[in-house]
Amino acid sequence: MTTAADASHLVPDAGTRAPDPRPVLSVVVPAYNEEDSLAPLHAEVSEVLDGIGEPWELIFVDDGSSDATVDRMFALADADPRVKVVKFVRNFGKSAAYMAGFAEVRGRIVVTLDADLQDDPNEIPRVLGRLRGEGWDMIVGWKQGRTGNEPHKALPSKVFNGLIAFMFGLRLHDSNCGFRVMRAEVAQSLDLYGDQYRFIPEFAHVKGYRVTEEGVNHRKRKFGRSKYGPKRFWTGLLDLITVRFITAFADRPLHFFGTFGLIPFVLGGLLETYVLLSKLFLGGTFQGHVGAIIIGVLLLIMGFQSVITGLIGEMLSAQQRARRFVVDTRREV
Ligand code: UDP
Ligand code: MG
Repeated sequence: MTTAADASHLVPDAGTRAPDPRPVLSVVVPAYNEEDSLAPLHAEVSEVLDGIGEPWELIFVDDGSSDATVDRMFALADADPRVKVVKFVRNFGKSAAYMAGFAEVRGRIVVTLDADLQDDPNEIPRVLGRLRGEGWDMIVGWKQGRTGNEPHKALPSKVFNGLIAFMFGLRLHDSNCGFRVMRAEVAQSLDLYGDQYRFIPEFAHVKGYRVTEEGVNHRKRKFGRSKYGPKRFWTGLLDLITVRFITAFADRPLHFFGTFGLIPFVLGGLLETYVLLSKLFLGGTFQGHVGAIIIGVLLLIMGFQSVITGLIGEMLSAQQRARRFVVDTRREV
């Protein structure tokens, strides 16, 4: 019997096949209009992972492609039972694609690769060995030779990664690298939306997982086009602020809004008190303090609003059912 949950990625003869051995490695590949890259990618991944000698699966997520991407995926899945397909009804973006892919993962270790062949599957064994050997929860790729491949991205990337490192205290050269190896638990702890896939290492780091980087070979795009234009540098900056804010204050919003509220509130209160005292005891007049009265009232309102906003934030936070802690389940992977 099939459930609604697997219907989205059903391989036609799945019910008739002997159950596969449970995979240890799960490779998750989001793809949006990458028709020509999928077959070579599958061939490369198969060769490399067969070489490791542990059962694996390859999960393709079709992010609403308008070319033959999804047909190619199903063709590969028909020929190879280790391939699974998740098909979106439209383009939902890379964060959604990762979330859908991670939900299907059965292995203990998740590898993410871009679909465009820019990430090199031959790097998997080495990075995987390091994850296991040194006990990391996630290793993010650091694209080598990128200045040659994509020179226009080199400088913005440097600035962006510098900012991220400063704001999160996690020193990475290439935070948004599509090549990652992580424990499945880390992937499944993520709750990405919008363009947050760029901050996967930072989310993991903030939760307390051990994250590091490793230089990996990076190749030129062979087929198709990049899906992201220069707009991403600007939106990336906005997202950086959002993610830093969420990770710092999601479960204590009043600490942020309250701090910004109490300062103007106290200043406004002092100002109005001064006006009142000067009228009562120093012979001053309200007319002579119109400026101070207006500024004082504005400060009071601003401060009050901000504290109330913080309290609403606390109510939202109190209703969240999200787990706010991470249990260390690590033995061996
Ligand atoms: N991608 C996706 N959904 C989107 C945009 C991109 O799944 O809406 C995939 C894309 O197919 C590729 C990966 O994300 O596998 C990285 O995209 P791209 O190569 O265009 O980014 P770049 O390498 O230029 O940073
Ligand atoms: Mg690419």
